[in-house]
Amino acid sequence: MKVVKFGGSSLASGEQVEKVFQIVLSDPTRKVVVVSAPGKRYSDDVKVTDLLIDLALHHLNGKNADHLFVAVLERYKSIAKELHLTNEIISKIESDLQTLLHGDKSKPDRYIDAIKASGEDNNAKLIAAYFQHQGVDAQYINPKDAGLFVSDEPGNARVLQESYEQLYKLRELDGIVIFPGFFGYTKQGDVLTFSRSGSDITGSILANGLKADLYENFTDVDAVYSVNPTIVADPKEIRELTYREMRELSYAGFSVFHDEALIPAFRAGIPVNIKNTNNPTAPGTRVVNHRENSNGPVIGIASDKGFCSIYISKYLMNREIGFGRRLLQILEEYGMSYEHIPSGIDDITLILRQNQMDAATEREILARITEELHVDEVRIEHNLSLIMIVGEGMRHNVGTTARASKALADAGVNIEMINQGSSEVSMMFGIKEIDEKRAVQAIYNEFFIPVRV
Ligand code: ASP
Repeated sequence: MKVVKFGGSSLASGEQVEKVFQIVLSDPTRKVVVVSAPGKRYSDDVKVTDLLIDLALHHLNGKNADHLFVAVLERYKSIAKELHLTNEIISKIESDLQTLLHGDKSKPDRYIDAIKASGEDNNAKLIAAYFQHQGVDAQYINPKDAGLFVSDEPGNARVLQESYEQLYKLRELDGIVIFPGFFGYTKQGDVLTFSRSGSDITGSILANGLKADLYENFTDVDAVYSVNPTIVADPKEIRELTYREMRELSYAGFSVFHDEALIPAFRAGIPVNIKNTNNPTAPGTRVVNHRENSNGPVIGIASDKGFCSIYISKYLMNREIGFGRRLLQILEEYGMSYEHIPSGIDDITLILRQNQMDAATEREILARITEELHVDEVRIEHNLSLIMIVGEGMRHNVGTTARASKALADAGVNIEMINQGSSEVSMMFGIKEIDEKRAVQAIYNEFFIPVRV
């Protein structure tokens, strides 16, 4: 039995939904179908989720939002029209959305989540209606009825462990289950969403709960590429990678698959197959427990911008018990998270996403570090990019760091910092944002382009 998830671009139009229908029917083991909200039809299009967030914010701020309401409804209308569905489903979507918009606004983050989640919820209803219209035994299932419960963290919920047992019962249902991605219910009955792109997480949770044999994740690319194709032209496709490699890569900037979506499938030992709705016979990329190490030390290179580093130096830091805790406590008080902490004898660097603090907060934090921790020096550097080199093979291969840093040196890129991940499957280089493209290309050439003799 397979759990199959389709992303927003796979469901953006009637034509796309038709492809989804064919894919699901072509394999009788495709029993549970998790769907996103309609995504982009072309590059400047707006995702339904983004329209819904805007719509909710307009309502919260008391602004006229008629144009947004119409825009959301138009998306469903045009899909329904292309699929020759009757108006009944659209009237239902319209009245449900109106009810939500007039709901309780006293807790804005919950109000936004409920409206955001309606994107997938209504799409699941629409797609179930289409399957039925085609004479297929299929039904929409609501996450509450299925027992998908989540923690009380609006916009960033996590599945509650007890859900898994409940979800197993979906196996007893006849026909195909159409399940909305991206959200669950708190024990108090509130609809809360996972973080953005979280329908991948729903699919993984269902695969685990239902003890599926495979979790197929359909998107709009033939495979996971070894590097961002907008940086390096025509990069190598990855056929197979481990959960750890995929998690590192998605965390560090690969957007094909949500980084939090691997854990549930991994815990249940269920392989993940990332495939293309527009080219379903292509083998795609498989995420598995172990892979044969045929690719050399590096499987993928990820990069992302928007980081800053706070460098702190204090003589005899090595002997000061509790220094690290006190430092991190300051960040915690501001609700900030860090990405890496490379450290030396008398110094330590915190690497953070810089959008977490405005200029005033930044000044305050630096002042507190200076005063409360009595440091010798503290300085912040902005506009850094992190490049992550990932591969299980790095553990056994000598000289990977040397090769990567030589490639950067030859490309004239100054390395601001290096951090070898504790997992030994990744290595991080901090560089200036302006050097990112050049650096990624140089590392890609070093590890993926065979040397001609
Ligand atoms: N529609 C949601 C988003 O855009 C979730 C998803 O597509 O996975 O974030």
